[in-house]
Amino acid sequence: MEDLLLIPGPVQLSPAVLEALARQPLAHTSPEFIGSFGSSLDMLGKIFLSKTAQPMIVSGSGTLAMECAISNLIEPGDKALVVSSGYFGDRFQPLIERHGGEVTLLSVEAGEAPSAEAAETMLEHGGYRLMTVTHVDTSTGVATDIKRFAEIARRHNVLLVVDSVCGIGGMEFRMDEWDVDLCLTGSQKALAAPAGLAILMIGQRALERFHARKEPSRSYYADWAQWLPIMKAYSECRPAYFATPAVNLFSALEATLREILAEGIENRWARHKQMSSFFKDELEQLGFEAVPSGRAVAATTMSAYYYGKLADSTLCSKVKNRGVTLAGGIHKDIKDRYFRVGHMGNVTESQLEQALKAIKSCL
Ligand code: PMP
Repeated sequence: MEDLLLIPGPVQLSPAVLEALARQPLAHTSPEFIGSFGSSLDMLGKIFLSKTAQPMIVSGSGTLAMECAISNLIEPGDKALVVSSGYFGDRFQPLIERHGGEVTLLSVEAGEAPSAEAAETMLEHGGYRLMTVTHVDTSTGVATDIKRFAEIARRHNVLLVVDSVCGIGGMEFRMDEWDVDLCLTGSQKALAAPAGLAILMIGQRALERFHARKEPSRSYYADWAQWLPIMKAYSECRPAYFATPAVNLFSALEATLREILAEGIENRWARHKQMSSFFKDELEQLGFEAVPSGRAVAATTMSAYYYGKLADSTLCSKVKNRGVTLAGGIHKDIKDRYFRVGHMGNVTESQLEQALKAIKSCL
């Protein structure tokens, strides 16, 4: 029997997604592929809840999505505020610096959520052009209040880039209503596709910033000047080529997006909330202590818990011997003291019960 994969991405795939992956590749210029790509672009609008943003899908992982945002929005000398709640938030700093930006890092202790007030104070002292925020930092399982950060970004006329790699498809996110400038994700988490697609929703202000650049993006592959015409062509059912898309991954993405919309995005958020509460309650009843400083700031797509006195860093390998794959820690300050569990996408309560049983038997 296959192991039950419960890490915070990649996640287990549905039969329809597996079937899409197993088909012979389509020609990337064929009407079938173009139709499928176009529908995926269209469906992303319904998942990010945006009627106005430009969707973009490029072959590559979530880190490429980050680079695709930054390399097109940052120009040399631009000041950026990086609001970080952990390992993935921190990643924006070298990325922005690589593209010539100047970073101020606003970080918090592991498990704390970043404060919008602290960010606002920094923005007041200004000159910032862009702010990055991580919706769910997968290193701590902390969720950040994106709506609040969008409000302060608007007040200070700063572009807001949201990394929702571990949020979109599982946690509430309202691109238009919250007025977010750019949101990026990867295919392998709550969207429940395989790893390998970088997904962006680019709001109008971000597009304007891009079009007003004084010099081209320093990235060749990630340059929106290359990709925007491709997205436009696919939306209009015309063939176009810049770089060969990972065709089978796109078929898999289309299959999962259809499943997500059939479930209903708000129903899906609610289901993730329910699974998360169930799992967290059970772990806490066993005596585990959460990494996030409170339930209100804990993500519902994943859980992060300290081993405490109940277990140690051998827990994941012991649980793996019982057929369930969990993830260890990655936050530099607490790395060996906690474990992480993904409960996003198609995970069921009975699978979480199986994981709990495996964990209990190792204590
Ligand atoms: N941001 C977040 C919040 C993530 O969780 C991850 C991956 N775990 C990334 C960015 C980077 O994505 P990838 O590993 O697909 O490059």
